[in-house]
Amino acid sequence: MKYIGAHVSTAGGVENAPENAGRIGAKAFALFTSNQRQWRSRPLTEQNLTRFKENCRNMGYDPGHILPHDSYLINLGHPEKEALKRSRDAFFDEMRRCEQLGLQYLNFHPGSHLDKIDPDLCLDRISESINMALDRTAGVTAVIENTAGQGTNMGHKFEHLARIISNVRDKSRIGVCLDTCHVYAAGYDIKTGAAFENTLRIFDRVVGIKYLKAMHLNDSKKGLGSRVDRHESIGKGALGLEPFRFIMNDPRFDNIPLILETPDQDIWKEEIMLLYGLIKVRGLRHIHKKANNF
Ligand SMILES: [Zn+2]
Ligand SMILES: [Zn+2]
Repeated sequence: MKYIGAHVSTAGGVENAPENAGRIGAKAFALFTSNQRQWRSRPLTEQNLTRFKENCRNMGYDPGHILPHDSYLINLGHPEKEALKRSRDAFFDEMRRCEQLGLQYLNFHPGSHLDKIDPDLCLDRISESINMALDRTAGVTAVIENTAGQGTNMGHKFEHLARIISNVRDKSRIGVCLDTCHVYAAGYDIKTGAAFENTLRIFDRVVGIKYLKAMHLNDSKKGLGSRVDRHESIGKGALGLEPFRFIMNDPRFDNIPLILETPDQDIWKEEIMLLYGLIKVRGLRHIHKKANNF
């Protein structure tokens, strides 16, 4: 079973996210649990928490199909001490909020070296930041997102993800979210079924497919290896429909959140329908065969 959704709005409170997801026919969703452009967010109230859980239950959303995203300000590999501490505190707060909401994942971008520290040191710092947050919380898995590799962002090579994971102590609470736009922009070809299969083979060898906990489904405005992070609506960019047809028909993507972060939210509903429409109906060949006999 495929669980497709989008990164929906929480305007008016986190408890509104499930309904916003329901409105577009989503079976999964992503959300920010805090203000993604501010360091400090108001704590979630008892009412926020109860209503969020109630609404998820009523709308049929399981925590395993909900993928909260952390604030864009956080850099878990920050080269400077003070700024690193601020990021670690904010990340812990994000993990705590997920814990309070009864959620099981927190999706985040690994971090940037800002040309001030060695990239490997930056990766090790990211692992330590994750360890610190995992030690102080329970039940929430940290889900690293691969990046397009823009600027000094780490996480565009599968080797980066592998190194971060290798230094995380609790391997049961670390995972990966692959963003299709980022994978392609980072230089891994997924444009055809064969290319996608090959990229997954590399991912499995370097990182391990068991760590794949979620996907972001985005077409890309820019080409293979451009290292530019510009999302495009499904089928309208450099990727086209083939990679999405591959995902929709491959059991390795079953039962995990598959989240749209495409730019035109007015067509999310259609995009979700389009994606479900890519599933090949089993037994169709059999029916055709039978029809031909007449
Ligand atoms: Zn993404
Ligand atoms: Zn992106």
